[in-house]
Amino acid sequence: MGRLDGRVVIVTGAARGQGEQEARLFAAEGAEVVVADVLDDQGEALAKEIGARYVHLDVGREDDWRGAVAAVKDACGRVDGLVNNAGILRFHALLDTPLDEFMEVVRVNQVGCFLGIKTVAPEMTDGGTIVNTASYTGLAGMAAVGAYAATKHAVVGLTRVAALELAGRGIRVNAVCPGAVDTAMSRPDGAGPEATGAFYRRLVPLGRIGRPEEVARLALFLSCDDSSYITGQPFVIDGGWLAGVSIS
Ligand code: NAD
Repeated sequence: MGRLDGRVVIVTGAARGQGEQEARLFAAEGAEVVVADVLDDQGEALAKEIGARYVHLDVGREDDWRGAVAAVKDACGRVDGLVNNAGILRFHALLDTPLDEFMEVVRVNQVGCFLGIKTVAPEMTDGGTIVNTASYTGLAGMAAVGAYAATKHAVVGLTRVAALELAGRGIRVNAVCPGAVDTAMSRPDGAGPEATGAFYRRLVPLGRIGRPEEVARLALFLSCDDSSYITGQPFVIDGGWLAGVSIS
């Protein structure tokens, strides 16, 4: 018996990284997974490999959401879960951030999450689940990622409000707040974990960067009945980074 047997779950940004691991784990736990992304070749290949369905979905476009949800309802007859995972990161000090860049980060990370909730929840089975991907920068500041941190704080806010508004239908809404996780996003210059290992050993109490599979297990917990009495909460998964300041 899988923990998601019979459930239809959409995972955005699932072509690679954390979304890919969520899609793999959810499929292994019995879900009918919908892999949604803008990276069509990678997304289609993954879907084929794990027996999932692929839909092209730019999360910042309302038309794309409408088309994707209609296609999923058509093919599967229902939607029980959504993981709003798609996101982008840009590095700039706030005072140097071009408005276009700020707005693009808002469009994908914040509007994408809003549109996911707005489009999927009305079609979702009562008792369904939504997991939004925030970040530890949704709960604390971090220099050089102002646009990103602003949108991730917004994702935590959206999570709390959606949880309140959807609780009457038994739909639970929570957020994952990862620290540094070893994906393409955390190594924009292509550096591997060996190059960044010393940095994370010093910075993170558990002494290493997180693995996307670890975030996937948290998303699974929040998408299945193991978390049946939990809603409206941000869950930090960061190796202890946010616990406080180390002095050694
Ligand atoms: P990633 O870059 O490997 O994956 C992001 C995925 O989102 C990619 O498949 C990408 O194609 C997709 N995507 C980007 N824009 C999209 C759009 N407009 N529509 C649909 N899909 C889009 O990075 P990741 O680490 O797997 O990131 C997953 C989530 O985790 C993001 O929301 C990110 O902000 C968050 N996060 C990452 C870290 C980290 O250190 N990697 C830390 C905290 C939070």
